[in-house]
Parts: sequence; structure tokens; C-alpha cells
Amino acid sequence: MSWREMLGAEDSELPVSQNSQNTHNAPTNNHSAYSAHSAEQESKLLEVLSSVCHGLIVNPREVRDALSSEDVEDWCNGGISATTLLDFSQLLAQRKEIQQGQVPAHFTKQAVCLVCGPIWFDAVKVLTTCPWCYNRLSNRPIPRPIDVRCADCDHFKRIEHPRLGHCAKGLSEPIVGLWDSDRRHCEWYLPVKKSNN
Ligand code: SF4
Ligand SMILES: [Zn+2]
Repeated sequence: MSWREMLGAEDSELPVSQNSQNTHNAPTNNHSAYSAHSAEQESKLLEVLSSVCHGLIVNPREVRDALSSEDVEDWCNGGISATTLLDFSQLLAQRKEIQQGQVPAHFTKQAVCLVCGPIWFDAVKVLTTCPWCYNRLSNRPIPRPIDVRCADCDHFKRIEHPRLGHCAKGLSEPIVGLWDSDRRHCEWYLPVKKSNN
């Protein structure tokens, strides 16, 4: 995925992300000046990325590897500004934090993703998809800003009792099972899928 696609995707996922400064210099499509990706250019790019990655949890090599050959070509032609590289690097860092189950520092608000449930985000809002969807789809935990009820969770399997059930994720529970309305802190909670009927 190129930096354009990634930042574009982020715009749709994170409409008010503090990482998006909207100050990018518009990249140009001038590819003519680029002839070969030299070792010198590679070294210069890593030097720039070294400065850009300062204070982030991604290193210059990780950012470099996430750039496509077209991205590098654009950068060689002056089509990608340092600001854009910074935005891209911040986005990579944010994704890495999320994949590790860490809440990015600017995700200080409680939002709701219709498929992930309550999430930490940078704005109070309802989303159809969110940055945490990656964790949901790759079976990773999602830190929750509030306690949840098993009764509302897709992993809750009721038994022949009006209020009890078991956790299909195998999380610890009393021998008798889980009481559906008890609130608990659970990073594996997923909202019950709504039927269209
Ligand atoms: S995943 Fe968490 S919220 Fe869902 S049933 Fe298991 S313990 Fe309850
Ligand atoms: Zn989501």
C-alpha cells in the first residue's frame, strides 16, 4: 500500500485524527526525472526518515520498507514533502501501537465502532469502521474504555438458564458460568451481530 492509499484510508477511518495536519504539499506526478534508485538516494532517504521517526515507535527502516518503489521515486523527484513523510510515519506508529494493543496517546475519547463496540479514539463519535477493526479481524485484543456485559457479546453462549452462559473465547469464569448482566473489563468483547430481520 502506498503512502497515498494509506493516508487516504486513514482519512476515512480517522476523520479528525490529530495526526492529519492537512498541510501536505501536493505531490506531483512527475516521474521523468527519476532514473534509478541509487544507494546514495537510499542513504539520503534513510537519513530524512531518521529525523522524521524521532520519538516514534517505528524506526527509519520500517518506514522505508512500508514505502513502495513509486513512493521512493516520488520522494526522489521532490513529490513527497517531509510533512507527508511525518504523517505517514505517525500513521505507521499508530498502527503498530494498535496492533500491540496499546492505546495511542491522542486516543483519549470514547467512541463506538458499530462492529468493534466501545473503543478509544480521538473524537466522540459513532464509526462504521475504525482503526481497531484490524485487531478484530486478526484476533487481537481491543482495549476498552468502559466495562461491558457478556449479554451483549457475540462470544457469550447461553445455557439452559435464563441468565447464565459461557465464554466461547475461553476466558476465566466461575464454574457455574457467567451472569449475563455483570459488567466486566474485557478486551475480547465483540458486540452481538445485529440480524437484518
Ligand atoms: S469475550 Fe468477554 S464479554 Fe465476551 S463473553 Fe467472554 S468474558 Fe464475556
Ligand atoms: Zn472497528
